[in-house]
Amino acid sequence: MQQAATAPGTAAAANHVSLIPVLNDNYVFVLHGDGAGPAVVVDPAVAEPVIQWLEQRQLQLVAILHTHHHHDHIGGTPGLLQRWPDAAVIASSADRERIPLQTRGVGDGDALELLGRRAEVLAVPGHTAHHIAFHLPPSGGDAGHLFCGDTLFAGGCGRLFEGTPEQMHQSLQRLAALPEATQVWCAHEYTEGNLRWAAAEQPQDAAIQARLQEVRARREQQKPTIPSSIALEKATNLFVRAADAAELRRRRGSKDLWKG
Ligand code: ZN
Ligand code: FE
Repeated sequence: MQQAATAPGTAAAANHVSLIPVLNDNYVFVLHGDGAGPAVVVDPAVAEPVIQWLEQRQLQLVAILHTHHHHDHIGGTPGLLQRWPDAAVIASSADRERIPLQTRGVGDGDALELLGRRAEVLAVPGHTAHHIAFHLPPSGGDAGHLFCGDTLFAGGCGRLFEGTPEQMHQSLQRLAALPEATQVWCAHEYTEGNLRWAAAEQPQDAAIQARLQEVRARREQQKPTIPSSIALEKATNLFVRAADAAELRRRRGSKDLWKG
């Protein structure tokens, strides 16, 4: 079996996730250790800013993870492979045609080793048919990380381009069952709009109102609202809180029409 993204001889497991804001509202995530060394990139929308970011820190790309096939999640991969031709490209094996540069296809329940730590693949259909998420359980004192692409957003969820409300409901409930302290790395900065919509839906909800204030303050200072946590999403995300697929469908319809 191919060992993805394990740098031989790396002693300490990767303990940092950094985000690189690109395009209008995308985030590219980098998993890395202290100082120079190997790095893993998640959902590179573009290549140039990512190459620069890695080179400035003397990080070498050893693997690229893809949550789904949309261009704003895979567009940077050809450029990154030009710079680091040996990097593994890990994506859903069911999406081999739509993510053609993949070198390792994965599916629900697969485990990977990324820079000395374990990563579990979860199938989370809804936004696309073969959307996957990567969960890194807690390690060395950190709370664990979730790379969920466009499935779970801070205060929201992805549009249902290829899946049903039933699938999205099930996907979100699976993510909600992860440890509450898990750091949730959503691929877009949509949080303020999501929370403004949620606050309009549930004006009496103190947790949502409080989060909206916090998010507004961060955005006024141009700071990211990512990462979120599973606990925060369970408390304030109306899609995660939806009791069933019918409620999720109703919320999704309201959000799609919302012009706030
Ligand atoms: Zn997408
Ligand atoms: Fe996207």
